[in-house]
Amino acid sequence: MTEDFLLLNPGPVPVTDEVSAAMDEPMVSHRSADFEAVYERAQDGLDYVFTESTLDGASTAPESGGTSLVLNGTATMGMESAVANLVGESDEAVSLVNGKFGRRFARIADRHTDEATRVEAEWGTSLSLDDVREAVTDDTEVVTMVHNETSTGILNPVAEVGEIAADHDATFVVDGVTSIGGDEFRLDDWNVDVAVTDSQKALAAPPGVSAMWLSADVEEKLDGESAPFYEDLEWHLRKAESHQTPFTSAVPLFRALAVAVEDIVEETMPTRIRRHRRQAKAFREGFTAMGLDLFADLREESDYSNTVTAVSLPEEVYGDDCEAFFDGVTERNVSISGGQAHLGGQIFRVSNMGGLPDDAILRGVRTVGEAMAD
Ligand code: PLP
Repeated sequence: MTEDFLLLNPGPVPVTDEVSAAMDEPMVSHRSADFEAVYERAQDGLDYVFTESTLDGASTAPESGGTSLVLNGTATMGMESAVANLVGESDEAVSLVNGKFGRRFARIADRHTDEATRVEAEWGTSLSLDDVREAVTDDTEVVTMVHNETSTGILNPVAEVGEIAADHDATFVVDGVTSIGGDEFRLDDWNVDVAVTDSQKALAAPPGVSAMWLSADVEEKLDGESAPFYEDLEWHLRKAESHQTPFTSAVPLFRALAVAVEDIVEETMPTRIRRHRRQAKAFREGFTAMGLDLFADLREESDYSNTVTAVSLPEEVYGDDCEAFFDGVTERNVSISGGQAHLGGQIFRVSNMGGLPDDAILRGVRTVGEAMAD
């Protein structure tokens, strides 16, 4: 790895030297006061990120409160924990699917209830709120959705879906994995009951742990007895009161996360959101100026992701011919991602999550242009 290596994949994202160094500190017991202090710092930073991810700096914490947790395991662990704790085998769950991660939530729900249904839209297109209104009823226990669909570069309408879920008293579980820490996320205004995010995305920490925010109302619904042992959120919450975890924590990763979220507190979320929005716009404008098309077909500019940009591969480098293009990018010491599932060979994706300088965005655009011209 040379010094000018540029990581533009939608996770893991680059981390600062200070975040890396935190992982190298001497090991301590996860039952020590030292570890409790680390977890407390991570929780404090996460409380800020979860509740104040607004452009105007206003808090969106519900009056009844909530708790930030860190779980061993990447975001899928967080998604699964939320569903496994809230959905019993006869509970109705509605999952919104317009990309790979919406589908992942639906697949998780399928494993926990016989009453899982989906509201689907073609990948790369917007979800229909009318379809959501039709699917969510007073019998719906849980609604799951992905805020920022990383597989397609779409920002989904959490506010509108949250209103529908709240009208039917359904628990609203949102994957904010590639939005939280980089874009607006308004817990109370959007009626979010559970929010899940990942260390390795816009929080700019190393991969391996996920973070979760649970509202006080949801905490009351949890019944540890029926939850999977490792994912018993009631137990996690009880231990978290004293900044402990039920099982051995990934100590170096918790430390790195604590430093990363403290950096966010220092930068402030309004500044961070504005930076992410500016950089994503630069990606979109750079690629379209080059004659490329954004993959998602959206009505409003504001429906495009502010953290992940997905671009259709042009005919010259489409399908099997894309390999040379991706090799050309790699040879220039830049790492980007291709399409996932059936979108392989059809698109490429870049991220501006975390703390990238503006010239990284310019280099990303230039590198793509050069590799396509090879
Ligand atoms: N949700 C979203 C929106 C994601 O982008 C990802 C990973 O890219 C995940 C969930 C799952 O993360 P992991 O595969 O690291 O568990």
